[in-house]
Amino acid sequence: MIVGVQPLAGFDKLLHYTVPETLRAAVRVGSLVRVPIMNRSHLALVLEKDTIPDVPPAKLKALSGILHEFPALTPDLLELARWMHSYYAARMESVLEAMIPAAVRDGSRLKSEKYLEVVRLLAPDEHAALARKAPKQAKLYDFLRQQFQPQKKSLVLARLGSTAAVVNALVQHGLIREEERHVERVAYADNWTGGEIVTGLPPKLNDEQAAVVFSVAESLEKRKFAVHLLHGVTGSGKTEVYLRAVEQVLAAGGSAIYLVPEVALTPQTVARLRGRFESAGHKTVVWHSHLGEGERLDGWTALASGQARVVVGARSAVFAPVKDLRLIVVDEEHEPAYKQDETPRYHGRDVAVYRAKLAHAVCLLGSATPSLESFANVKGGKYRLNTLTKRVDDKKMPDIQIVDMRIEVMRSRGMVTLSRLLVDHMHQRFARKEQIILFINRRGYSSSMQCRKCGHVEECPHCSVAMTYHRADETLKCHLCGHQRGAPVACPACAAPDIRWRGLGTQRVEEAVRRVLPRARLERMDTDTMSKKHRFRQILGDFRAGKIDILIGTQMIGKGLDFPNVTLVGLVDADLSMHVPDFRANERTFQLLVQVAGRAGRGDRAGEVVVQTFTPKADAIQFAKRADFDGFAEAELAVRKKFAYPPYRHLVHHLFRGPNPEKIRFFADHWVKQVEKTLGDAVEIRGPVPSPIEKVKDEYRFQVWYFCAGATKVVPELVKLQTTVNWPDDVTQVLDVDPMNLF
Ligand code: ADP
Ligand code: ZN
Repeated sequence: MIVGVQPLAGFDKLLHYTVPETLRAAVRVGSLVRVPIMNRSHLALVLEKDTIPDVPPAKLKALSGILHEFPALTPDLLELARWMHSYYAARMESVLEAMIPAAVRDGSRLKSEKYLEVVRLLAPDEHAALARKAPKQAKLYDFLRQQFQPQKKSLVLARLGSTAAVVNALVQHGLIREEERHVERVAYADNWTGGEIVTGLPPKLNDEQAAVVFSVAESLEKRKFAVHLLHGVTGSGKTEVYLRAVEQVLAAGGSAIYLVPEVALTPQTVARLRGRFESAGHKTVVWHSHLGEGERLDGWTALASGQARVVVGARSAVFAPVKDLRLIVVDEEHEPAYKQDETPRYHGRDVAVYRAKLAHAVCLLGSATPSLESFANVKGGKYRLNTLTKRVDDKKMPDIQIVDMRIEVMRSRGMVTLSRLLVDHMHQRFARKEQIILFINRRGYSSSMQCRKCGHVEECPHCSVAMTYHRADETLKCHLCGHQRGAPVACPACAAPDIRWRGLGTQRVEEAVRRVLPRARLERMDTDTMSKKHRFRQILGDFRAGKIDILIGTQMIGKGLDFPNVTLVGLVDADLSMHVPDFRANERTFQLLVQVAGRAGRGDRAGEVVVQTFTPKADAIQFAKRADFDGFAEAELAVRKKFAYPPYRHLVHHLFRGPNPEKIRFFADHWVKQVEKTLGDAVEIRGPVPSPIEKVKDEYRFQVWYFCAGATKVVPELVKLQTTVNWPDDVTQVLDVDPMNLF
């Protein structure tokens, strides 16, 4: 038998090996194996079996080993890898590394422990003899006899101060037995729920939910590829719909993947799935990068072996090697966090849709604020739309109140962090022992320029994105087309001198809150405080348990979390996401408002939302206030169409960076001419222009944008063209297909 393998360590090439007799039964397409390359052992993935090698078979070397009993990649995953390699212009090797967890690639063995137990009871005289002749053996024997079950050897020895020699002696006398047991390390085995009560009993579906569940069930029964977009307002019970779909898949013997956008959301979801399915004997595996190696390996093994058929995790869980995949749920499908910002730069949602297609499975996308990409796919007839228009139990949607910060600033003659309206509400809620969440907009881009008197922001006349302020040469630049002008010293709209307004940090908000409510217990949740593992679980748990009154944080706490006692949500700086140089800025702002508002009033008491902004009339804010997704989508799609932005075209970002700006510029200019010549009308090119962040770590950055009807044809052409250019060593390039982050 001859196999074609892809080595994982720096060889982007298929190599051929023979398979020794002993490994023939185990080696399959998708298996992780060890192969000799120039006398060193390397890890590789079997891509082909029984292939014709490019050298005479007699010259081939043999595989030296196999890592796991199960293939690391299923056939649909292998196909997916090939697609990602070409679509995202990523090296095959890096795609495979993203797909297979390091713990699995490391080939570290499953963890096993030795256990001890008594196998023969001693008569009293025998026992006395042992105690006399070998007191240490007697002590160990006595200890084990008092136990009801086998004991971990390592713990017993440590506890009694005994040694392996003592164990061996007892084993030789036939008094105790030593046994090796595989121990499974289960993530979140403590079933942490942060105090959320998770009952196994499913609630009775309301009519809207029942209709959606029925529609998804029909697709699942057909065993054909289908995508459903579930647009359900916040608190409408989308999770219950997902659970019913998973239930159906499990009952039919299939597997399901459940994606959430942030690691922070996995504990809540895992608790819900375990609460529902564990009693029926179905394990739920947790899959994300914050797990220990052991947990990852064991979870992976459980899925690859078919022992577990449900997996929950962030982006990379889309690569779980489950058997008989029938459903992929993508919760909060609009979240930019699904896009990976290092190579391979894939979008978890799009990969989920593609994998579902390869596996003839159903992909269920859900959101209160669907992405315009998915919405356009509904309009184009590719996805089926299901809607939930009401909160469960007819709970009221929260009231959104908009505070015009221009007036606040005028009144107080200076910087304002918390408006009077917000402060009033905070006092009331605190007095009633209800909880408060304050959001700070992380997407704020400090170099945008906004007048804090009138709220005006300068936009590029050609691109309809905010211009970027460059301090070094006092200019405003459009980072899409390069249009540039001198930075105004006064606001072009109202002539106020105060145009360089910057955002508020979490700390600043924390200080302001402490001044307003010194006795409130508050906790800050941002990337600084979240560096410690499991810290987010602890804070969210304390918040749910009522040990924290006010939670201050960035969007990371705005997603999907369900805290019934929160009745007030404040968005401190709505503007920051709106005036970034990104054509999705309005969409982001609308989503942010609706999502954070959705955190309020999920329990029995009605919720209120206070949004502070310098541009209260902006479309995104007004549509969000009315909770009018359709209205927003229609208006925004019209703008996208006019400028031919996604979803009407695809976008590819090409970054060039290096220490020498003239050199980069020269090569980038040359490159663009080549692309024009080769691809002609297939792409519209903008750039090269300096990136909005022109210099990072002493490297200058330039970028080129390609707008095209489809990435499938254009990207491979660009990659091919790249190989024909003689690039200098100190110019690094990165291609990002369907980028989510435009600066
Ligand atoms: P969404 O994800 O749409 O914002 P959730 O799925 O978190 O909403 O549901 C909100 C709350 O309503 C949850 O506590 C959930 O357990 C509960 N719930 C969902 N469906 C029902 C139902 N049919 N009857 C009663 N409670 C429900
Ligand atoms: Zn422009």
